[in-house]
Amino acid sequence: MQEEPTLKSRRSLTLRFGIPIAKTREFWDALRDGRFVTTKCKSCGKISFPPQADCPRCGSGDHEWVALGTEAKLVTYTHVMVTPASFVENDPYIIAIGELTNGLKVLAWLEGTTIEKLKPGMGMRLEARQSREGNPYYVFVPA
Ligand SMILES: [Zn+2]
Repeated sequence: MQEEPTLKSRRSLTLRFGIPIAKTREFWDALRDGRFVTTKCKSCGKISFPPQADCPRCGSGDHEWVALGTEAKLVTYTHVMVTPASFVENDPYIIAIGELTNGLKVLAWLEGTTIEKLKPGMGMRLEARQSREGNPYYVFVPA
């Protein structure tokens, strides 16, 4: 197969984008204060995390905000050595899935430990962080 002719460039691109958060504003405001809240469907009672404006189980848009416990157990993890372009400035990092005490599974970076120390079932907790741009986000840390 013949390759399409292209003009090649080695310039870097900076991406600027906005993520709409109007429907999950309570979550981001709480996270900025170091608290975790999420959505609970008023129709069927399903608790979602990350928060969902519309219930993934029954489709209802009627939800309330409930406090989310931050204790978790490590389910599985991976060590990301070859980072995607948007994280090229980061050192290799660990992505983990943790199961909260209410049974919800959460995907997040795991900080404050090394890959050698990880064992499925070990205790972790969610912690709020702030990016260089001032955006709140969350990570797991060992409990
Ligand atoms: Zn529902």
